[in-house]
This record gives sequence, structure tokens and C-alpha cells, in this order.
Amino acid sequence: MRQPLIAGNWKMNGSRDSIKTLLDGLKAGIDEVKTAEVAVCAPYVYLADVQSQLSGTPIAWGGQNLSTEEKGAFTGEISASMLLDFGCKFVIVGHSERRSLYGEDDALVARKYAVARTAGLIPILCVGETLEEREKGIMEEVVARQLNAVIDLEGVTALNDGVIAYEPVWAIGTGKTASPEQAQEAHAFIRKLIAEKDASVADKVRIQYGGSMNAGNAAELLAMADIDGGLIGGASLKAEDFLAICKAAG
Ligand code: PEP
Repeated sequence: MRQPLIAGNWKMNGSRDSIKTLLDGLKAGIDEVKTAEVAVCAPYVYLADVQSQLSGTPIAWGGQNLSTEEKGAFTGEISASMLLDFGCKFVIVGHSERRSLYGEDDALVARKYAVARTAGLIPILCVGETLEEREKGIMEEVVARQLNAVIDLEGVTALNDGVIAYEPVWAIGTGKTASPEQAQEAHAFIRKLIAEKDASVADKVRIQYGGSMNAGNAAELLAMADIDGGLIGGASLKAEDFLAICKAAG
């Protein structure tokens, strides 16, 4: 059985005060979450606060990005070892905002995945097509290309150490969720693609859905056979909404 993972992606949101309120709310309700593993991915500057507030709770935390470099003259960058220094378990790699706004291509994302897993972090690898690509009928081609970049660099067993997040770009932050059937179709495609290389990796790897998942639509998405949790943006910023999604998993 794959344990669902519900991870919040706070993006560039929050303040020390608002994060304290959010984490107090999550800590107050986390005991009611019976099945899912729960994590929050915070802006770098708040990781120390998150670590001190979540240590000793069942809620894990992580970063939203990392450098491929270990240390040195890379102004503004953060390394895997720095994330580990603040107790991070997870790190998001290849989020569509990093791909589209900061020019991260498949090769760079694959290197980030490799650096994260080698360091002992669990990379959450985001893949997904744009609206234009979906309308052209090339969703599978795009997702396969993004995934194969990691498999070609690291071998398919590298997926044993990570999590995949299928995030159709047209559904991120737009309020337009993929239907459970659309999401399941993409997740099943991803699992089949991996199974063609290694059935046991495909069976074990967790594939989250991301894209306007919220308290109202989570249960039907999470009920689909190949959806093993969610990567949650907007709805992870309110404790009540995020906990409702966590409870809907499993
Ligand atoms: C995301 O940023 O990964 C995401 C899924 O955002 P939202 O839930 O706001 O669509």
C-alpha cells in the first residue's frame, strides 16, 4: 500500500506571524489525520521557524527548490545540505513556476532531483503539461519527456527515493481542477511508463496530484486508484482547508 502524501507548497507567501498561526492550526488538528503523511514546503527564510514549531510533531517540512551546487560562489542559491541543516525531509523540484518563470529545463530539473536524493532529501518531482500542450494532444509526450529526463540521468530505481507530482499547468492556481478521470488517466499513464522499465518501482512510487485541489474536490480526486496524495498550493495556506484535504486522503 502506498501511503498518501499531502504536501503544502506555500510558494512566496506568509510572514512569521501568519506562519505561526497556520502551524498552530495544523498542530491542533493533525491528530485527526489518520492515514496521510503530511508536509509543508516553506520559503527558505522561514525554515528555521518551521523547524522549531514542527519538531516533535508528525508534520514534516521541506524546501521549494535547491541548487545543484554544494557550496561556493552562487549568490542567492541554497544547497541540499543547507536544507538538511534545517531538518527538511522533502524538496520540490521542477515546479512549473520554476520551469516557466526561471527557465529550468528538463536537464536541470533532473540534476536537481539527483542532487536532492544523493543528499538524502526526498525530491517531489513536478511534471505536467500546459493548456496548449493538452489541446494539441501531447500531454503524454510532455510528461514522458519530463520524467525520462530523470530516468535517463539516474536510472528508473532513482524514483524509489522520490515522489512524483502530476500538476497540469492549466490547473495550478487557476481554480480549474482536472476532473478525477482526467487526473487518473495521467497518473495511470505515468505509472505505466515506469512499469515498462521496472514494475516494482511503478508499484511503489507515490504520484501526487496538484492543481487547485481544495477541501471540496479532494476526496473524489484522492479516491482514484493511482492518485497517492496531493501537492497543494492555495489551499495549504489555511489550516482548516489543508487539514480537510489531509483527512480526505485515505
Ligand atoms: C502548486 O503550486 O503546486 C499548486 C498545485 O497550486 P494550487 O493548489 O494553488 O493550484
